[in-house]
Amino acid sequence: MTAPLIDPFARAITYLRVSVTDRCDFRCVYCMSENMSFLPKKDLLTLEELDRMCTTFVQMGVEKLRITGGEPLVRRNIMSFFRSMTRHLDSGALKELTLTTNGSQLHRFSDDLYAAGVRRVNVSLDTLDDEKFSQVTRWGRLKQVLTGIDAAQKAGLRIKINAVALKGFNEEELPRITQWCAERDMDLTWIEVMPMGDIGNEDRLDQYWSLKDVRAEYENHYDVTDLVERTGGPARYVRLAETGQKIGFITPLSHNFCESCNRVRLTCTGELFMCLGQEDRADLRAALRDYPDTNQPLEDAIRAAINLKPKGHDFDYSRQVVDGKMSRHMSHTGG
Ligand code: SAM
Ligand code: SF4
Repeated sequence: MTAPLIDPFARAITYLRVSVTDRCDFRCVYCMSENMSFLPKKDLLTLEELDRMCTTFVQMGVEKLRITGGEPLVRRNIMSFFRSMTRHLDSGALKELTLTTNGSQLHRFSDDLYAAGVRRVNVSLDTLDDEKFSQVTRWGRLKQVLTGIDAAQKAGLRIKINAVALKGFNEEELPRITQWCAERDMDLTWIEVMPMGDIGNEDRLDQYWSLKDVRAEYENHYDVTDLVERTGGPARYVRLAETGQKIGFITPLSHNFCESCNRVRLTCTGELFMCLGQEDRADLRAALRDYPDTNQPLEDAIRAAINLKPKGHDFDYSRQVVDGKMSRHMSHTGG
């Protein structure tokens, strides 16, 4: 172990989110345009490079790794990467290895993920209606995802559902989705749409359903109690008395959560983003590729990057314009 990663605002960086591919088998309307262009394969970190990168972060104090994308489970041979991370769980250096997925490949990989040491998975699912699912994901099939969720639960993986709150789209489904999660003992978190990347003809402000309103909608149906619990991230939680469920709200646009931020994001090309809502980034790929025999330049580059972690982000919908809009897609940085 080397000295832990502490940023200029005294925040310990213990959580790394890694996007292992920018590609995806879905084209969700808030995430991508239908004719997305993807990065040339040579720009991607190889699985061996991803291992070296993550291992270095773990040696510098990262305790939680979340694998994301694009769709992480469409990256070829990704299970070998998961298996290679198991050694850090075994050594105790890594406390959690997890992923965020659209669920389309869970029917194939759930047992392998469990065997690699994964215990919890976030599955993104915005609607339980077949037709609406095809509409929002453009290319996805609900049945396949539901089969995947079944397989994951059977394998012993705990599931959290992430639903993007979309005005006029899944508003009316809130009780149904909530009930479905309760019946299956799955946690549920609602996410506000963020202004990330060009998505073609869709309008961000049309999609925006404030989580303040989502919470109010819960109060129409349930007895809601705020929980003080925080995870160092943007989620806030409530408990529903009727079902005992914990419901999360990720509200990066309406609340400031940056003071407790413990995370950084690595893209599939080896760029480190110190904040989801800022352009500040550091190229770690050169420090990795140019020095195959020593990790010192990579460690130095990581420390220099963490020293530049900004205090917070600038997203703002409050003036009915999308301020602080980011040109990159969520699938690039990994949501
Ligand atoms: N493909 C995987 C999935 O969908 O879970 C992992 C990557 S995806 C970019 C991660 C999360 O970002 C998903 O929960 C997705 O709903 C969310 N997301 C994508 N674009 C978003 C946006 N513009 N605003 C808010 N959430 C977004
Ligand atoms: Fe793919 Fe996830 Fe983006 Fe949907 S949200 S297009 S599943 S990366």
